[in-house]
Amino acid sequence: MGALPSYVSGGWHTPSGDGTPAYDAATGEEVARISSTGIDMAAALDHGRTVGGPALRALTFHQRGALLKALVSHLREHRDELYALSARTGATKADSKFDIDGGIGVAAAYASLAKRELPNDTVYPEGRVETLGKGGTFVGRNVLTPLHGVAVQINAFNFPVWGPLEKFAPAFLAGVPSLIKPASQTAYLTHRLVELIVESGLLPEGSLQLVCGGAGDLLDHVTGQDLVSFTGSAATAQRLRAHPAVVRNSVRFNAEADSLNLSVLGPDAVPGTTEFDLYVKQVVTEMTVKAGQKCTAIRRAFVPAELIDDVERALCEKLAKVTVGNPTAEGVRMGALASLEQREEVRRSLKALSGAGRIVFGDPDRVDVVDADHERGAFVSPVLLRADDPDRAEPHEVEAFGPVATLMPYTSVEQLVALAARGQGSLAGSVVTGDPDFARDVVLGVAPWHGRLLVLDAEDAGESTGHGSPLPAFVHGGPGRAGGGQEMAGIHGVLHHMQRTSVQGSPTVLGRVTGQWVPGAERTADEHPFRKSLARLRPGDSVTAGPRRVTAEDVAHFAEFTGDTFYAHTDETAAAANPLFGGIVAHGYLVVSLAAGLFVSPEPGPVLANYGLENLRFRTPVKPGDELTVTLTAKQITPREDADHGEVRWDTEVTNQQGEPVAKYDVLTLVAKDG
Ligand code: NAP
Repeated sequence: MGALPSYVSGGWHTPSGDGTPAYDAATGEEVARISSTGIDMAAALDHGRTVGGPALRALTFHQRGALLKALVSHLREHRDELYALSARTGATKADSKFDIDGGIGVAAAYASLAKRELPNDTVYPEGRVETLGKGGTFVGRNVLTPLHGVAVQINAFNFPVWGPLEKFAPAFLAGVPSLIKPASQTAYLTHRLVELIVESGLLPEGSLQLVCGGAGDLLDHVTGQDLVSFTGSAATAQRLRAHPAVVRNSVRFNAEADSLNLSVLGPDAVPGTTEFDLYVKQVVTEMTVKAGQKCTAIRRAFVPAELIDDVERALCEKLAKVTVGNPTAEGVRMGALASLEQREEVRRSLKALSGAGRIVFGDPDRVDVVDADHERGAFVSPVLLRADDPDRAEPHEVEAFGPVATLMPYTSVEQLVALAARGQGSLAGSVVTGDPDFARDVVLGVAPWHGRLLVLDAEDAGESTGHGSPLPAFVHGGPGRAGGGQEMAGIHGVLHHMQRTSVQGSPTVLGRVTGQWVPGAERTADEHPFRKSLARLRPGDSVTAGPRRVTAEDVAHFAEFTGDTFYAHTDETAAAANPLFGGIVAHGYLVVSLAAGLFVSPEPGPVLANYGLENLRFRTPVKPGDELTVTLTAKQITPREDADHGEVRWDTEVTNQQGEPVAKYDVLTLVAKDG
């Protein structure tokens, strides 16, 4: 059997030599040979930078999002094939779904985020425009542009599909090409994933490369425009973070490492409560999904000292029902570890852990398996330890990367927070309690050591995604031992691949740079902008309308008509006593409505709908007799890739007869591309 090819520099590269065998975790048969011998790593990085980068940067965020969406559909069609290969890593169908559907789900979430949160442009203006001078002619704003390098993505063996996809999707959306290096043990599954992606022909060449096998001298060639995103053990993270080229070039280095995640049972959650059952179920799930080879799995189970016997009994009862065996066999709940070496590693860690307590469930050296040979396959029993002295060092230091957890007692929230900190930084933690005050104390106490916290109770259990699931909209990563990195977190994952640059200049220049009109820049008022389709509308197109006198009758009518008879609009005496108004004032919503009446161009035309307002502020009270003028200016124009219309954000300013701002807001409309 020859070694699997890697996809580099625009083609499939077959390594010279035989490579290292990767074995089926359940049967011990050889699945593939893995090697990177002969790959020119410098050339691969260069290909990404010179071919992939320019092709990606030529696309807008929305165009990249549309490609990602098409890729998601393509991968969904080939899921069964991936499941079959995934079983060879020791994964049951449920484990495979976690990895494969989970990974595709993250890519889908990023595809839809493009449309929702990013402009249909190649630059991302961030935050507010800051006015830097009194006259308003000098302004500044942060803008983000894609780095011109390659995102080098080094993954762990346990999530051969989710790992690459959750790193690739935000990089791709940012406009940065990826070079994926899967862990050798399960690289054959990532290889098939990349093959499917390449076969789809959807992505620009150079935007995705794959190196199966050792990284060789890859990191020697990274520059300040490249990024390294690493998932794996803390020891490797430490080595790679200190790589001379990474240090010398200040390469953005993100690490997701191992962690000793905790789960806490609240004192209220006594046997018989929903929360007690939820806790027991969750600990068993976390121990057995992916045979415990999950960076977020619960390793430290803290329970009130007086409940520890009850919890131990309930956990053991449930663990006894877990069937271990061939991951494809009917009724098997837990498959194999990824390899025999991994099983040896787990046994070694268990030896170290057992100094702190005793095993109350499972035998590290023996397990009954269904439809498999327990010696040829990397099977191990779930193992529950109990450490009655939670101050022992081992449970807070040793990660057994398998179906292993340690049960420990606590007596107070203060002690719990101190014990949590002994893990030196974790990816995920959970608190299972029906007492919101206890939940608050624990969450705020342990949060500085955690990237994600779940509070589980009877109210959210039905919809909860569980302790172990990172979510694309939220941060995945933890401080300290967990690597100190952050992945996903919605748009932050995209922006991580971009350079934030503060740009200062005139409003006109800043508007041109960002593709958005900036207050203070010139406006064009040649034709009512509501008569212009997206084909003709430009940032800065505007209309000024008014003045419109607001009368006491208008205010009274509006109060009666809408039912908003708040005293400041209806009761002269009470309104006079109001310290802010000193008399009757117009409703803010009346001002907004009158402004719409002024700026609207009523005949049918390219403007299809008003879908909301944002950032509305009432600045100066409007009194009967005041005269309103409104100026509406096209600020941001976002054509939709998959529709015949797009969004237009209008800067809207209402002023009174003294020119004072009365209200400021953004009007959001849908406008046809043509017509
Ligand atoms: P690992 O041995 O640290 O390997 C991780 C990756 O680093 C593999 O792709 C490996 O490649 C590569 N690597 C090793 N040495 C390298 C070097 N000198 N230069 C470049 N790449 C190098 O970890 P693992 O055993 O695969 O994964 C298990 C660990 O990962 C567990 O401790 C777990 O907690 C952690 N993990 C963390 C997360 C998270 O999101 N935080 C997720 C999953 C797993 P080869 O396989 O080719 O050696």
